[in-house]
Amino acid sequence: MTGETTLVLIRYGEIGLKGRNRPAFERRLADRVRLALKPIGGRVWREHGRLFAEAPVGWAEMQRRLEGVFGIVSFSPVRRVPLDLDAVIAAARDELRGALSDRPPGPATFRVAARRANKRFPYQSMDINRRVGAALLADPPPGRGLAVDLGDPDVTVHIEVRDDAAYVFARTAAGPGGLPVGSSGRALALLSGGIDSPVAVWMMMKRGVQVDAVHFHSYPFTSDRSREKVVDLARILARYGGPLNLHVVHFTDVQTAISRHCPPQWIVTIMRRMMFRIAERLAAQHGALALVTGESVGQVASQTLESLQTIGEVAALPVLRPLVGFDKTEIVEMARRIGTYETSILPYQDCCALFVPKNPVTRPRPEQARAVEAPLDIEPLIAGALERTETLRFAP
Ligand code: ATP
Ligand code: MG
Repeated sequence: MTGETTLVLIRYGEIGLKGRNRPAFERRLADRVRLALKPIGGRVWREHGRLFAEAPVGWAEMQRRLEGVFGIVSFSPVRRVPLDLDAVIAAARDELRGALSDRPPGPATFRVAARRANKRFPYQSMDINRRVGAALLADPPPGRGLAVDLGDPDVTVHIEVRDDAAYVFARTAAGPGGLPVGSSGRALALLSGGIDSPVAVWMMMKRGVQVDAVHFHSYPFTSDRSREKVVDLARILARYGGPLNLHVVHFTDVQTAISRHCPPQWIVTIMRRMMFRIAERLAAQHGALALVTGESVGQVASQTLESLQTIGEVAALPVLRPLVGFDKTEIVEMARRIGTYETSILPYQDCCALFVPKNPVTRPRPEQARAVEAPLDIEPLIAGALERTETLRFAP
């Protein structure tokens, strides 16, 4: 233990907050931050309308923990010092050095931006700027030239003089934005082992939705490795928006029935309709208000508007497709940032790849699909799959 402690000031998107929602938003955000810092013994509190957190770790570890918390727009490590100019100068020097250590070597520019909320403090803002600025200039970090630039400095040292203490910060890290998970109800995502659906889950979590997942597994057509892959993805996603329940549905009998009774070019469409039906039952059991998929438009043959309609008609719940406006390259980029990409590209196939024919119908119509699936005993197939569903729970 180094005895190091980091205090952070957390900022959130106030512009989009409607007055009435604000207290609930703040409470949820504080809860999510508390959850993120719990394993390291962190504390979270609100003070004068601002959110603070503190934990016995360094800034890098604090960043790692907070940069995934939805609802945070940005956050800064702050020093809280007594209302005394020398103490403020010492803190400003430390913070400037901290900020400069993140930058390439060589000369750097800075400015001081003081705000005096406490009018009893004997120096006015401009006066604080000048005095602290002069002290910093007089004592640059070793090997580093310093100059003041009021227009576009490399580092801005912020000083806020409040009634109880002065707060000094010079570094700011970006949070993901969005809404704290738990603000927007629950949804159930269809999670494959691919690149897209984990990103779709992340995007719904970012909108404050508590997301559970369902995976359709066709053992022994698909291996335990492909199941493990989805389990790994669920574990990564739970870090952002957990707890996350993953329902693993035994889909083998459904797939076997479909490939036995339906023409090959219809297999994908009918399989997806069965997935939606089963997902909707699970959603009802677990209080989910929408389904989520990683579908986009035009990405693959099965993702035409006709296909989305024909698949979607079996579900009464809204089907959310947060990737619908993105290109594959953008989705890949997001998957890398979220940390799911490396797992998603592992080679183990999910159930669909095995059954995909060379020439799937690209413009399936709902009435055709209904005729094609008529030979299936849909209800018993659904009941059988649900009976053999296993639920795993992942903590945040
Ligand atoms: P992904 O990268 O998410 O696998 P994809 O581009 O491969 O998507 P499809 O294979 O057409 O597209 O799947 C479309 C969507 O259907 C997926 O994003 C996912 O939401 C759902 N899905 C597909 N296969 C499964 C599965 N085995 N279990 C659960 N959901 C699935
Ligand atoms: Mg896929």
